[in-house]
Amino acid sequence: MTIKAVRGTRDLLPPETELWNRVEQTAREVFSLYNFFEIRTPIFEDTQLFARGVGEATDIVSKEMYTWEDRARAQSEKAQSLTLRPENTAGVVRAYIEHKLWERPGLQKLYYIGPQFRRERPQKGRYRQFYQIGAEVIGAPSAGSESPVRDAEVLEMLVMLLNRLEIKDWTLQLNSVGSQSSRPAYNEALRKALNGVVERMCVDCQRRAVTNPLRVFDCKVPEDQPIIETLPRISGFLDEADRKHFDEVQQILRVTGVPFVINDRLVRGLDYYTRTAFEFTQGSLGAQNAILGGGRYDGLSEALGGPRAPGIGFAIGEDRFVMAIAAGQEDKVSSISAPQVYIAPLGEGMNAPAAKLAQELRLQGIRVELGDESFRLKKSFETAEKLGISKVVIVGENEVASDQFALKDLQSGEQEKVKRAQFIEKISSLMSSYASARQA
Ligand code: AMP
Repeated sequence: MTIKAVRGTRDLLPPETELWNRVEQTAREVFSLYNFFEIRTPIFEDTQLFARGVGEATDIVSKEMYTWEDRARAQSEKAQSLTLRPENTAGVVRAYIEHKLWERPGLQKLYYIGPQFRRERPQKGRYRQFYQIGAEVIGAPSAGSESPVRDAEVLEMLVMLLNRLEIKDWTLQLNSVGSQSSRPAYNEALRKALNGVVERMCVDCQRRAVTNPLRVFDCKVPEDQPIIETLPRISGFLDEADRKHFDEVQQILRVTGVPFVINDRLVRGLDYYTRTAFEFTQGSLGAQNAILGGGRYDGLSEALGGPRAPGIGFAIGEDRFVMAIAAGQEDKVSSISAPQVYIAPLGEGMNAPAAKLAQELRLQGIRVELGDESFRLKKSFETAEKLGISKVVIVGENEVASDQFALKDLQSGEQEKVKRAQFIEKISSLMSSYASARQA
């Protein structure tokens, strides 16, 4: 029996990985313009981090985590419950607390790129191992972490990234889920409204109504939606400070030209969000159309035992970003750019001089594919052609003896002999004239 990749996981192969790298590279460039730096946290953490950070009543923690009891290996160790990270914000805030990052000047602006794990029902655009590119702005209130400027700046940064990646047809949905001070009255109103209707809702909603009524808005069951539509919205319960904060975020977005729509049903499936919550959806993706989501989490650091450290962040679903890009530009995605030169060692004893020549060309920044002396010349030409390479260098006994190489152009069929001393220069100038011709 052959072994296959586990359900909900997948291999990313070239040429698609080229696209993944382009997305990541572009994200790094954009984040750098906004002065963000990379953080890498472990892929697994203490289970308590997610239970306390993301929230026990969320779908992620109650149903989707990969958790195991990690046995002690020595008397001095204790067994520990560990979890593959289902998201990265809790890990970043843990690191912020653990390394006392508030002692560093200004705000902490951190980004991450990496796999996350959730035991969801796999389908197109939804995987059990998926990839997120995310960023967080966190710090002491005195560093400006609470300011609506931060919210608007993060959203504007995302729009720059979407534009650079030429992802079109997106909608930014925006809401304020209120701060800790607005929430109790709203929860009370929700509980009241759910009383009497919740028996007609799914079992998850019945549980949510008791543990955390806000989570009812995460429900995807179609029959429950008409009931959810009748529930009171958080927008009616924001206090003066929350409302002012939200207004200012919107005002800056208007000035910086970031289009948005208000969606007062949007609460996001994680408990830590306060005030601004947002999601970008994209038109070409069908059911799993949320390409990224995020929001403010002013109480998370304290919930994890840290100092007061308001923050805002987002996580991009990289799998979905790649799908959105691929949907718009099939032609750009399906090809890998060919190496520039194929080196064909011809006959016994030629592998070593060919390897030496390949090394010299690569040191000059030329991309080289190296053949094998057991190939006949015809096979070398065929191999180069299949790889889309038009320049073949033949390294045979005669060439080595006369200290020159035969350079064949497979497109024109022409072949010339070039002295070793001029060889590198010749290839380099050929390659740069190619590059400029392609750019023109
Ligand atoms: P969340 O961490 O739930 O706020 O999700 C942020 C983004 O991650 C979503 O908008 C999706 O694009 C992506 N995402 C979440 N779960 C999955 C998954 N199981 N498979 C693929 N992408 C996901």
